[in-house]
Amino acid sequence: MIRHLKSPGLFAAIDRVPAPGTRAGERVFEVFNPSTGELLARLPDMGVDETRAAIDRAFAAQAGWAALTARERSDVLWRWHQLIVDHTDDLAAILTAEMGKPLAEAKSEVAHAAAYLQWYAEEANRIYGETISAPSTDRRMLVIKQPIGVVGTITPWNFPASMVARKISPALAAGCTIVLKPAEQTPLVAGAMFALAAEAGFPEGVVNLIYASEGDAIGRELCSNPKVRKISFTGSTEVGRLLMRQCSDQIKKVSLELGGNAPFIVFDDADIDAAVDGAIQAKFRNAGQTCVSANRLYVQSAVHDAFVEKFVEKVRHLPVGDGFDSDVAIGPLIDSHALAKIELHIADVVAKGGVVRCGGNRIGEKGTFFQPTVLTRISHDMTVAQEETFGPVAPIIRFEDADQVVHEANDTIYGLAAYFYASNLKRVWHVAEALEYGMVGINTGRMSSEAAPFGGIKQSGIGREGSRHGLEDYLEMKYLCMGGI
Ligand code: NAP
Repeated sequence: MIRHLKSPGLFAAIDRVPAPGTRAGERVFEVFNPSTGELLARLPDMGVDETRAAIDRAFAAQAGWAALTARERSDVLWRWHQLIVDHTDDLAAILTAEMGKPLAEAKSEVAHAAAYLQWYAEEANRIYGETISAPSTDRRMLVIKQPIGVVGTITPWNFPASMVARKISPALAAGCTIVLKPAEQTPLVAGAMFALAAEAGFPEGVVNLIYASEGDAIGRELCSNPKVRKISFTGSTEVGRLLMRQCSDQIKKVSLELGGNAPFIVFDDADIDAAVDGAIQAKFRNAGQTCVSANRLYVQSAVHDAFVEKFVEKVRHLPVGDGFDSDVAIGPLIDSHALAKIELHIADVVAKGGVVRCGGNRIGEKGTFFQPTVLTRISHDMTVAQEETFGPVAPIIRFEDADQVVHEANDTIYGLAAYFYASNLKRVWHVAEALEYGMVGINTGRMSSEAAPFGGIKQSGIGREGSRHGLEDYLEMKYLCMGGI
């Protein structure tokens, strides 16, 4: 049972969310608390047949949902937003229990999820077409926007509430219906949000949830079923590539929010204290398990030692523990594979002459806790600087030349987020424009917002979520030409 639940009814409803008749016989899968190893729930383990049935329901509901006025769709999204706000404490408790992040971070994530629903409840009313000056007087030309259709969505475990809201709220606002599969490790908060969606009054078949332990079979069905007109995926680049391949036979549209390898650059004209605080935020939020985590820190020679000293001092004192304990800043990692990956990255650093300045080890026997770690004497070719570590490990690379650091920052297949700290305005503009990333944080370690376009370039993805641009990803453009006027 989950500690701190105010209304156990919401938790109980999770099991009942998928529509009747969609449950896969006796097959179940289990969800555990990564801090304690405690079993939290057994859920029906759905497969291809249940996914097909959910797609059929979404397909049947599509025309009716699209035919509502924008205001009517907006009203349902508003009600869902309000229910999520009202149940923030319980949603956060469920999230912390299944994912491990500190309760305060979980509450902030639920607020972020609610903010997306609010934003797209508003944006639903702002879908505009255009008129075009025709090249002859007997014609009228215009463009209308229409929903793409049924959208298949797949979400990861690291932000199990906000990824659900960020992905499906623009789709629903646009008039699409959806089928969503959350990550195997974190289906509970998604289930609770869908239980609240039912209360909000979405018509039958508009939102559909698939619980499953094996993403590949569900993914194949979503990509190959012709009733699904678009796939929207957040997760690893590897799985994103696979889904894109699977969608190619039907030229199915894709939105992909994939992995990153974010550089965090501190120039010699930066405010060092602000840069240290920004680096703590960008590196250690969610135990480093975010796609926009600072993966490699570059610090210019003149300020390198001062930065490292202050940074290590703060990192040493970051409290690690069960997300339900007060004052905890870093929870457990999602599972033992995540621990093993971090250890491999640190071993590679040590073997190549790098130094562990603090941390470097697992904590305790129970749970999947790892010490917040700072590594120095890092070079650009080490695994830790090349691959997404996805853990509380901060490798620091000393650099001399400003042009060279931008070149190294861009020397990756990824292009999601980058950060830098500097004060010289000329440098700020030059570096901001030269970094090949979809998002750049300048003198800040945190930039996600429902009002801004979130997304990457290169192999970090296709499309944007959030802002007015996020809605466009779920709309088709239709050109109408009327002659004989
Ligand atoms: P993942 O392994 O790619 O899994 C993400 C989702 O895909 C899960 O629901 C998973 O289901 C499903 N899945 C796995 N294999 C699949 C397949 N063959 N076909 C269809 N679906 C499949 O990624 P993760 O480890 O959960 O998440 C971490 C990654 O996500 C990191 O790389 C991170 O950078 C990225 N991410 C990106 C963003 C962004 O906005 N750019 C945001 C958050 C995370 P199962 O759980 O059932 O395997």
